[in-house]
Formats: sequence, C-alpha cells, structure tokens
Amino acid sequence: MKGLVIKSTGSWYQVLAEDGEMWQARIRGKLRLQISDTSNPVAVGDSVEFEPDPNFAQTAQIKAVEDRKNWIIRRANKSSARRQILACNLDAAVLVASLVAPRTSMGFIDRFLLICQAYKVPAIVFFNKTDLLGEAGTEFSQDINQVYRESEATMLWGSATQEHGLDPLLEQMRGKRVLFAGHSGVGKSTLLNRLFPEAQARVGAISDHHEKGKHTTTFAELFPLSDGTQIIDTPGIRDFGVVDIPKNELAQYMPELRSRLPRCRFNDCQHINEPGCAVLQDLENETLPSERYHSYLSMLNEEDMFA
Ligand code: GDP
Ligand code: ZN
Repeated sequence: MKGLVIKSTGSWYQVLAEDGEMWQARIRGKLRLQISDTSNPVAVGDSVEFEPDPNFAQTAQIKAVEDRKNWIIRRANKSSARRQILACNLDAAVLVASLVAPRTSMGFIDRFLLICQAYKVPAIVFFNKTDLLGEAGTEFSQDINQVYRESEATMLWGSATQEHGLDPLLEQMRGKRVLFAGHSGVGKSTLLNRLFPEAQARVGAISDHHEKGKHTTTFAELFPLSDGTQIIDTPGIRDFGVVDIPKNELAQYMPELRSRLPRCRFNDCQHINEPGCAVLQDLENETLPSERYHSYLSMLNEEDMFA
C-alpha cells in the first residue's frame, strides 16, 4: 500500500493512505539502516510504501520511501550537529513576515530565501499586518518589492484580520503542498485559519506545544484539505533550516548574484573585492539593490547563520 507521511512523533509516523485511511506506522528495521544520514529517515511529505501489521488494527510497517524531490533540513536540537528533515517534497514555502509587531528582519527573510534556493523550493513571502502600516504602507511595500525584484521570490502583502490580500496567496497555493513558517506573533495561525476555515483550530496549535518545551519530535504537520491543497505547519522559525552550504557557494543561491557571475572577470568571483566584478559594478551604478548584497556579505561573515 502507498501513503503520505503527514506527521512524525518519535518512532511512529502517521500515514495517510491513498484511499483516505489513516495508519500509525513504524519503520521496518532494515529500512532504518539504509537511510540514516539524518536522524529521521522518514519525514513529513514522504511518499511511502507500507504493509499493514497483521497483529494490530490500523498499524503498519513502512517498507520503502520514494526518492525526494526536495526537502528542508533543521538541526535536531540547538546543541547538536545532527540533521533532521523538517519536511520534504514541497511545491512552495511561505514565510509569514511582518514589518511591525513584531518586525521580521530583512536579514532573516534573506536567509529564508537562500535556504529555499539551496533546497530548490519556490519561496513566497507574505507580509502580514499591512493594516498597521497606515499611510506609509504603500511606500514600504513598493520599496521592498523593488529590493526583491530579482530574488525569484513572490512578495505578497495583506492583512489576515482584515482579510485583505488573501486571494493572491490562495492562488499561489491551490492544489499544492506548501510549508508555512514564521516568527511567533506574525499572524501565521490567524492567516491559515482565514485562508482555510476547514483547518480551524488544528493549524497553529503545533507552535503552542513546541513553546511549552515539551519533549516532542513533532516539528511539522501536514494538513490535507478538501480542495487538494496540503499545508505543512511548522513551529518557531528559529528551527527553520540549517545552512550547511560552503561559503564559496552562497552566491549561487542568490539569483541576483548568480545571474551576474557570467559578466564577472573571474568565474569563481565571490563579488567581494575582485577586479572586473559585475556585481560591484552594478552596485556602483545602482542597478543592483544594495540591501540584498549586504545580506550576502553578512551571511558570508557569519559562523552560524541560525545561531
Ligand atoms: P502566530 O504566532 O504567527 O501564529 O500569530 P497569531 O496568529 O497568533 O497572531 C498574533 C497576533 O497578531 C494576534 O493578536 C492576531 O490577532 C494578530 N494579527 C494577526 N494578523 C493580523 C493582521 O493582519 N493585522 C493585525 N493588526 N493583527 C494581526
Ligand atoms: Zn563578481
């Protein structure tokens, strides 16, 4: 039988079978050995093959995992170097951000976008709480859209509580498997509940568990909706992603730098102080926004981008 992993709790996985039935599944011992480079060999979003356990109802054994098209990895815990797949086989990732109450920093948004580029997940940033920006809102959004014009990310603006600007986001999500992330307080739960009333009271709850510091291995949970859309809710963003990308490859994952490399004199240009660098040139003549470049420099200088 085939199914989709929608939740992982320690050694048990919740698997939604193709016929809509829910199974509690464990990994067969042999499989565990085959895929053990991360601490969770099976992750939310995995398509798996499973076999019902003859001895227990609705209980199954996972026999095989299909190849993943992409994934997002987190650190197993703060002090550990072990990796854990947060979710996989994603069609898009949405970062819910806010310019006020609380402010999501541009540096943080840029790290999120870099991870999405590195793991090949199309990125959307939804700037929530536009109702709090007042008169200046239009100007803010125009400026920020300008800064991100070459980022390949979709920038959307709106307000969950005012139900403003939600349709463009829905359009980007319909029928897809979409991961949602955001700092606590930006309005992620409010937004998800307004977007998908049928998910009411289920999404968002995951963060609460997490914040109470309970011992839990549920870091992401997939909610299948009746229109075919699948939401993967994740808790605190501090856990989002690990960048184990060598510093000299970072520029590859910033589209505005990647696209300029062919015009740089050196084909391994890091765009720092090299002669004949097209990036430095475009910064000089202001055809490349300096904000994104500064994020690049700060990522280059950081020991651990998510410390
Ligand atoms: P989460 O931690 O990201 O899930 O955030 P919540 O959904 O719990 O929202 C945090 C607070 O922000 C709540 O008081 C919400 O009512 C409020 N909020 C959410 N969206 C908006 C919005 O668009 N505008 C305003 N003004 N407040 C919002
Ligand atoms: Zn260069």
